[in-house]
Amino acid sequence: MMRPQEMIAIKRDGGELSREQIEGFIDGVCDGSWADYQISAFLMAMFTRGLSEDEQNALTNAMLHSGDVLDLASIDLPKADKHSTGGVGDKTSLIIAPAVAACGVAVPMISGRGLGHTGGTLDKLESIPGYRINLSNDEFRSVLDKCGFAMTGQTDQIVPADKKLYALRDATATVPYIPLIVASIMSKKLAEGLDALILDVKTGSGAFMTNPDDAVYLARAMVRTGKEFGVRTQAIVSDMDQPLGRFVGNACEVFECLNILRGEDDERSADLKQLSVELSARMLILTGVEADIDIAKKRIEDAITIGAAYEKFEQNCYEQGGEKEFCRSPKQLLDSTLDEFIIRADKDGYVSTVDALAIGEAVVSIGGGRRLTEDSIDHGVGYSCEVKIGNEVRYGDVLGVLYCRGKDQAKSVSEKLNAAYRIDEQPTSKPELIKAVIDA
Ligand code: URA
Repeated sequence: MMRPQEMIAIKRDGGELSREQIEGFIDGVCDGSWADYQISAFLMAMFTRGLSEDEQNALTNAMLHSGDVLDLASIDLPKADKHSTGGVGDKTSLIIAPAVAACGVAVPMISGRGLGHTGGTLDKLESIPGYRINLSNDEFRSVLDKCGFAMTGQTDQIVPADKKLYALRDATATVPYIPLIVASIMSKKLAEGLDALILDVKTGSGAFMTNPDDAVYLARAMVRTGKEFGVRTQAIVSDMDQPLGRFVGNACEVFECLNILRGEDDERSADLKQLSVELSARMLILTGVEADIDIAKKRIEDAITIGAAYEKFEQNCYEQGGEKEFCRSPKQLLDSTLDEFIIRADKDGYVSTVDALAIGEAVVSIGGGRRLTEDSIDHGVGYSCEVKIGNEVRYGDVLGVLYCRGKDQAKSVSEKLNAAYRIDEQPTSKPELIKAVIDA
């Protein structure tokens, strides 16, 4: 077995590592035989010298097998999941999972918590009183079997190597390197035992990839990796220049999704619904349940309209310990003791900017998200986007509403929220929501 310093030297000097050497590295990460400083040095060598596609696949494979890989063969349905690279107001999982399950595809969803300005599905779900997001593997399989979808957090048994590596990447400025991102994301998704995977790679001010070319590059790399591992994989690149849907914040995002599932939504959630239908329909195509994208979209829309998707959500909520009456009366999720602070238009014109990053950061700073993994969050606070890019407004119109705790919180973010908007005299077109579909 090669010593860590010898492997670090190979990569430091621009050499290519074998599959066995990369497996030895991941074993060393998991069994503690590589010290943190050696892992960190190796990560930096990979970052600066690069990884070939073979090395990236070997790393993905070794990470994937560093823990349990779910065996869902006993569930006699095609299995598919969706992964998003994260955004502001991105809550599509809560619509996609029940809608796709209602169309006969099992959705084993292992999600994350929010970090920084992007939200996380687990935090949103935890705003439903009683809802459990820490299912054991057996519970996860049982909920999936009963209701067609299950949602849980990453356990220490699934891709344990990623937890350690991600923490060290975060501490050594080696997160933004595409082969390391691909290995991190794809190893976790491949551990779910899927037949198909749809990826939603976001681009724009509120996304991890602000540059669309980088987003396309990442999407292609992940699609190739998925296929290499025998999972039918496709990606879409979608807009994250403005928040997705109406609300940003945990409980209010669940409220918005339940409104869609209950047919009580309005124009402010139109982009969220459009993207959810698009991603869901592609999951039906990838699993072979439908062959035509328009028919697949209609099938998903129908599942929402007739309430089949809602019923799946309610059943899942019950199975995961959540109190069902919050599904039936989603308004109860909203905290009526919050203060409202209104952002208004300072002139007539057309909205040309609704800065997703600024709004995401404002919500985090009043407690709606976390800066450090160990931070606790306030599920109640949030922001409502009352206008979107392209809307015409008059002086004094409401652009957005901050739901916060007290005047000091409002004061602390009012400048940022006002600056998040730009109003132009000339009409602005709506940004294209779906910018590309990536098959290879
Ligand atoms: N999300 C992940 O899970 N891993 C990365 O490396 C980046 C984003």
